[in-house]
Amino acid sequence: MEENTKIHEKYMREAIRQAKKAYAIDEVPIGCVIVYEGRIIARGYNRRNTDKNTLSHAELIAIRKASKKLGDWRLEGCTMYITLEPCQMCSGAIIQARVSEVVIGSMNGKAGCAGSVLNLLEMEEFNHQAAVTRGILDEECSLMLSTFFRELREKKKLEKQKSNNEKEK
Ligand SMILES: [Zn+2]
Repeated sequence: MEENTKIHEKYMREAIRQAKKAYAIDEVPIGCVIVYEGRIIARGYNRRNTDKNTLSHAELIAIRKASKKLGDWRLEGCTMYITLEPCQMCSGAIIQARVSEVVIGSMNGKAGCAGSVLNLLEMEEFNHQAAVTRGILDEECSLMLSTFFRELREKKKLEKQKSNNEKEK
């Protein structure tokens, strides 16, 4: 295996650990870590429902922490690992923060803005582009999401059955 891929997988596993924290609190499991000079300087996981805040995406939480740690809004030299392709908001923030490199687990055909719906990370028209690597531990990342949504559907079905049963009483 290529040395770079090994490193990518190592940090993607850390992002998956973050995603599992979201999973544990019934949030869509998306996790993120930011690496600078070979160290993780920030972590984040999706907390949108918990915080009741659309800004609580894993990536934005991690960007906020990384900026605090480095004492700079510029995250040049940083690599962000995300279990799922970022949305338009987070892709915008990644470019605004000048994150140098982005490593993605699975792609998000319906909403991703790093190559699926749009590719905000690699637009030459902007003053900054990020280097993008896709498909690192893809299967593990997408399985985590599909399991989450399957369980959610089953939970909703059960709740519906329960409320129907109660109506019949
Ligand atoms: Zn986002």
